[in-house]
Amino acid sequence: MRSHLLNDTTTEHYRRSVTEGVERVAAKLAATDRPFTGVTVDDLAPRLDAIDLDQPLRDTTAVLDELEDVYLRDAVYFHHPRYLAHLNCPVVIPAVLGEAVLSAVNSSLDTWDQSAGGTLIERKLVDWTAARIGLGPAADGVFTSGGTQSNLQALLLAREETKTQDLAKLRVFASEVSHFSVQKSAKLLGLGPEAVVAVPVDHDKRMQTVALAHELERCAEAGLVPMAVVATAGTTDFGSIDPLPEIAGLCEQYGAWMHVDAAYGCGLLASLKYRHRIDGIERADSVTVDYHKSFFQPVSSSAVLVRDAATLRHATYHAEYLNPRRMVTERIPNQVDKSLQTTRRFDALKLWMTLRVMGADGIGALFDEVCDLAAEGWKLLAADPRFDVVVEPSLSTLVFRYIPAAVTDPAEIDRANLYARKALFASGDAVVAGTKVAGRHYLKFTLLNPETTTADITAVLDLIAGHAEQYLGESLDRAC
Ligand SMILES: *Cc1c(COP(=O)(O)O)cnc(C)c1O
Repeated sequence: MRSHLLNDTTTEHYRRSVTEGVERVAAKLAATDRPFTGVTVDDLAPRLDAIDLDQPLRDTTAVLDELEDVYLRDAVYFHHPRYLAHLNCPVVIPAVLGEAVLSAVNSSLDTWDQSAGGTLIERKLVDWTAARIGLGPAADGVFTSGGTQSNLQALLLAREETKTQDLAKLRVFASEVSHFSVQKSAKLLGLGPEAVVAVPVDHDKRMQTVALAHELERCAEAGLVPMAVVATAGTTDFGSIDPLPEIAGLCEQYGAWMHVDAAYGCGLLASLKYRHRIDGIERADSVTVDYHKSFFQPVSSSAVLVRDAATLRHATYHAEYLNPRRMVTERIPNQVDKSLQTTRRFDALKLWMTLRVMGADGIGALFDEVCDLAAEGWKLLAADPRFDVVVEPSLSTLVFRYIPAAVTDPAEIDRANLYARKALFASGDAVVAGTKVAGRHYLKFTLLNPETTTADITAVLDLIAGHAEQYLGESLDRAC
């Protein structure tokens, strides 16, 4: 069994095993002609049920064969140009290389004595990101598992900075289309059920700053504490970017912490064409960035950045077994002092490899391509009488719905769109997402693959229309 431990005597086994796995995945990627096979839970579950985990196969090739059967064959492939559903990107090769290196060396980024250079690499990337945002000389931050954790940590710092004992008094303002992790965080932070105030959005799904000002005023009048305003720079559904400069002004006026949730829009930090769309982000107290969304990084890769490094002390605890207080005076860099996690992956290495091989402009150019594609897609949808499209994209999503000329019942149109999404998924020809707008069911393309073309968009729209028409035809038959 010792031959399975990765060490100086097993390097040949390591090389062979990993190469065999890489060969499989490479062959799979080359052969995928659809983003999904359409496999159902009922198809797949019995194959897993049949596997006895207490009866190992022992042989790597046999295990990879089995994996083919229970996972690889039927996985959802984000690299396929017709995967258009959620905020998942195809990944860049330098980052995948980074992933292979980081898991083999297995550094843990909690302390210097578990990582050494890894800590310095992460710190340099935090500084790089903070500088791109423009957070100023006192900025800092830390890598996290994702936007959800980044938002939680940012709001923890905001809560502590209020120095308010009575948590029931705290209010967090976020637009009605902000991410649900804001509400989850509020709950985890012990705030009351009324704590998160949903601020209405305008026609373009951007926070209405007049409404925000009104809510902040109401909060002050009621003797409550405006703990934070969460501005979303790229909403999950619409990619809409809240008016950051105006929100920054209101935060200053009312003494609220400004958090920018740029989990999605952070790609603009590297953009060559659209960086101005997030102007004002430099005025934030904290920023969430998800490199695993718009920097083409494998899951997970995310960070929370803060304007004032000192605020990270609210996440600092010392333990004799890990990061004793004396290490601070000895100036030993222990990232755990800034993190909600303890043992923590060296995810930063993926971004490091990416920037060293491709450069930031290389990443920015890819993100610009998908933003341009979304703009083209919007034109196609706006000109197509079969569809209603919601907002002109600021990033790379399109929210739309099939609207048959002959049908007026909105509930029937809802059902046709829901059916089309399901039928498309079952066919595996394409994967699209769905959401609700003003109570009605819509479909969504999240475009993060520069390999997707306008021809793909046209083809998928035709498939959607075809499935929806089929549903309506059958429902007509049922009615007769
Ligand atoms: C995806 C997303 C999140 C959550 O990020 P995870 O990495 O999935 O945890 C938060 N905010 C916004 C706007 C998002 O799009």
